[in-house]
Amino acid sequence: MLGPVLLAAARSDNIRRVVSAAPVTRPVVDRFIAGERLDQAMETVRSLTGRGLEVTLDHLGEDVTDRTEALRARDAYLALAEALREAGLGVRAEMSVKLSAFGQSLPDGDDIAYEGVLRVAEAAAEAGTTVTLDMEDHTTVDSTLAILAKLRERFPATGAVLQSYLYRTEDDCRALAGEGSRVRLVKGAYKEPASVALQDKHEVDRAYVRCLRILMAGEGYPMIGSHDPRMVAIAQELARRAGRKPDEYEFQMLYGIRTAEQERLAGAGHRMRVYVPYGTDWYGYFMRRLAERPANLAFFLRSLATR
Ligand code: FAD
Repeated sequence: MLGPVLLAAARSDNIRRVVSAAPVTRPVVDRFIAGERLDQAMETVRSLTGRGLEVTLDHLGEDVTDRTEALRARDAYLALAEALREAGLGVRAEMSVKLSAFGQSLPDGDDIAYEGVLRVAEAAAEAGTTVTLDMEDHTTVDSTLAILAKLRERFPATGAVLQSYLYRTEDDCRALAGEGSRVRLVKGAYKEPASVALQDKHEVDRAYVRCLRILMAGEGYPMIGSHDPRMVAIAQELARRAGRKPDEYEFQMLYGIRTAEQERLAGAGHRMRVYVPYGTDWYGYFMRRLAERPANLAFFLRSLATR
């Protein structure tokens, strides 16, 4: 019940100010965020890759309202790509980008976001890595997929994210199941209306499995972005039936969530990529994590109560 309230709060500037300023918030945030600075994120990358895990890095930020902020987001990713190149970590670490941080919703936003992310894709290629475009709320899906298609003309390995809660996603999976395509399948983290998205959790799970079947049977590279043990087990079975080898798909989980399971899967020979967010603009990301799981919210509330 609290999920939708928290997702609405994730978009509220007033609540953002209160939550961000509360000193008790910090330790809980630290569980999900690798730090505010690039050097802290790189330290986390070294630690995770040293334990046999792969990484995708997210410089936190979304919904920018002017061009200067969009350029700042792009520059943060260029600095990240350079750090990965210098450290020789491009083979193990890729980058996840939210196009709303690159100016997607500004007038001429599609062009602004495309120009920004193109520079990042070039820098990623120089570092020996690639970019995946995160998916945000449903109003951005057409624009994000159009930018993906343009980027893939020059950088075919650019990844996409599809959300099983949207009615349209099975069709999008079919369209993106071709050779060279990289798709992270997730359930979806935004508050969406019934006109575009399934509202029942079990329906979302069932849709996830249908989408996974399409991706696993296709020619592309499926990335299973879920902490759900059932989805992880079903993905393994579908991969086996499709005759996929361990390097022909991967699992992805968020930093700080089910870390023992992340290491177990990697230890069992699966490719396991951890999504590592860092930066100062953590509010929206943090609220979506609280909304996903009552236990995360309880952890946050307990830390308030014990002060
Ligand atoms: P849920 O349905 O939330 O949980 C199912 C089960 O998983 C739980 O019952 C429990 O058994 C287990 N579980 C879940 N969390 C925990 C936990 N903390 N500890 C122990 N067990 C747990 N969403 C987007 O909309 N766009 C994106 O671009 C995007 N990128 C993502 C990238 C990655 C790598 C991941 C993992 C998720 C991403 N998401 C994204 C979020 C996603 O849409 C879901 O909101 C989120 O992953 C929760 O769904 P779930 O499949 O993990 O399982």
